[in-house]
Amino acid sequence: MKINIAIDGPSAAGKSTIADILARKLRYAHLDTGAMYRCVAYAAIQQHIDLADEDALTKMLEHLDIHFNDAGEVWIGSENVSQSIRTNEISMAASKVSAHPQVRKSLVAKQQKIAENKGYILDGRDIGTVVLPDAELKIYMVASVEARAKRRYKEYVEKGMDADYETIYRDIEQRDYQDSHRKASPLKKAADAMEIDTSDMTIAEVIAYIMERMDKQ
Ligand code: C5P
Repeated sequence: MKINIAIDGPSAAGKSTIADILARKLRYAHLDTGAMYRCVAYAAIQQHIDLADEDALTKMLEHLDIHFNDAGEVWIGSENVSQSIRTNEISMAASKVSAHPQVRKSLVAKQQKIAENKGYILDGRDIGTVVLPDAELKIYMVASVEARAKRRYKEYVEKGMDADYETIYRDIEQRDYQDSHRKASPLKKAADAMEIDTSDMTIAEVIAYIMERMDKQ
């Protein structure tokens, strides 16, 4: 029988990568909820909407057609934004728009609707605590700021994107602070989540660890 899996943790802890591989192994669907907040930030910047203006953002969201295709691409309407939402600027902007309760309410409702039927892996910051409090398996992934900054830097370089290690390091620290100190659904480990520190683990090790835990359930 299929279950739902919640993966939470700070930025660049490896949530999306792990969720993707797990989804393929288990034949589950993966929903990257961070990409949805990134889309809101991207669209707001395109439309010159103030990131602090909750009402304007909420209004914009009513008409924002965010969707994912089977190839894992992220689209807003007819624009493929898979690459454009992955910049440092959008990361910081996503963290800002995600602090607004109305923005969260709207996206959480969409996420819950998508995962209504079991067989989903959702990754984000509030999945185990707010979006899917009944998820059968909850994972809280952490890693040192240094390990995460190194991974992000490598990822940017491999994709041919502009990358400055110091900036990435500072932005990760700042996003950690913003995401865990906001009033609305701050980043927090669910009481029943299993914590994995991936700082010194390879991707294969993390996957093996989770699969072993699932077998034991
Ligand atoms: O996971 P990712 O780094 O793509 O998320 C971008 C930003 O979106 C995060 O820094 C966080 O502020 C926000 N986010 C959130 N809740 C989620 C997923 C992401 O607040 N479930």
